[in-house]
Amino acid sequence: MHLLAEFEKQDLAEVGRGLHRFASDLYPICRSITGDGIRRTLRMIMGRIPLQISEVPSGTAVFDWVVPKEWNIHDAYIKDMTGKRVVDFERSNLHVLNYSVSIHETMPLGELRHRLHTIPEHPDWIPYRTSYYQEDWGFCLAHNQLLTLEDGDYEVCIDSTLGEGQLTYGECYLPGESEDEVLISCHACHPSLANDNLSGLVVATALAEMLSRRELRYSYRFLFIPGTIGAITWLAKNRDHVLHIRHGLVLTGIGDSGSFHYKKTRRGNTEIDQVAAHILRHYSESAELLDFSPYGYDERQYCSPGFNLPVGCLMRSVWGTFPEYHTSADNLDFIKPEQLAESLRLCIGIVEALENNRRYRNLQPYCEPQLGKRNLYRATGGETIGTEINARLWVLNLSDGEHSLLDIADRSGLPFATISEAAEVLRSSGLLSIISEPASADRVGRHASNPNKVTLLR
Ligand SMILES: [Zn+2]
Repeated sequence: MHLLAEFEKQDLAEVGRGLHRFASDLYPICRSITGDGIRRTLRMIMGRIPLQISEVPSGTAVFDWVVPKEWNIHDAYIKDMTGKRVVDFERSNLHVLNYSVSIHETMPLGELRHRLHTIPEHPDWIPYRTSYYQEDWGFCLAHNQLLTLEDGDYEVCIDSTLGEGQLTYGECYLPGESEDEVLISCHACHPSLANDNLSGLVVATALAEMLSRRELRYSYRFLFIPGTIGAITWLAKNRDHVLHIRHGLVLTGIGDSGSFHYKKTRRGNTEIDQVAAHILRHYSESAELLDFSPYGYDERQYCSPGFNLPVGCLMRSVWGTFPEYHTSADNLDFIKPEQLAESLRLCIGIVEALENNRRYRNLQPYCEPQLGKRNLYRATGGETIGTEINARLWVLNLSDGEHSLLDIADRSGLPFATISEAAEVLRSSGLLSIISEPASADRVGRHASNPNKVTLLR
């Protein structure tokens, strides 16, 4: 499969502009972990890729959690005594503490003040705050704006509903030759925040769109879910199905100008870890690998000890380390078309390596096969061999059933794509055969003492 070569034939500037346009279309929607904002978002993604929407009723127990009530908001404001809206949800959906219960009262500023969230160190930015699991209400505003509010009474209104409803998520399943799956997961629950939320959504959608037109070795499952509770709910409903997940990536925060970071899986030595490390190393010197930690995005749920799935997390700047994180400054200017296109390119590189990474057997293992007579070696002796031939020699030497192409790429220091091309040439010349591997589900055993506990035998 040559996804990357196909991708690079396109006008990448235009690809980037397309990704950014889609982010701009999604940006105004007031999303949350439940409600019409996430439904609308999923419908817009559905306009581009096949998506199956699931709804799970409030009150459903999912492991140690319960699916919360559904929240919807229609309007919110703070009016001064002249009737002027000094804080207006219509201007920014970040102004409302996400999941605020409804309120309509008049109160003095002194009483209102402890309901107002600001960031004094970035006085022009509006913070993004939530209160999903404790019923509360509040407003978020620029600190400078707070300073302009004069003492006196204010009319405070949050026109929202919080009641029995559904938690909504979307799945795009692309069947491949194998039932083994690659899981790509991104959260879709943040309101007008561009990097933390929309960058992952638009890149994942574009990747799914591209893969939907290809013959695939693996099956792919793209999840567009509310953060934390969405991943927990999906895992609770797919407890047995996860045995098919062979590799996985959480995509988040991939539109900003920061260098790439890959957070390893809990196991730390899975194929997705090796692939991501290889692709990043050959992509840029500033890319960094991070060890697993139990804090971050939904890799926390996929890598919880009961599941321990091979799911890593790809991002640019790490959450919480840049000042724009969870503020109104994480806007459409913070994500750039070229950065989105570059992130998509990196994801395609990772997928291509996963698709092409196999073990081969050298069918002529006793001494080097004569490449010259097969037109696989240069004609004149004496010169230094080129990368192409070097790659062929590496592949032949290490294709003993033990080493994958990625092992060979790492050991030789050559890019995976070069090694993969060499394997293709050698195979079509009859010098290599593919070693078929058992499917994920067949590599699984169940504990005799506890039949519900499942472990991957690798
Ligand atoms: Zn976030």
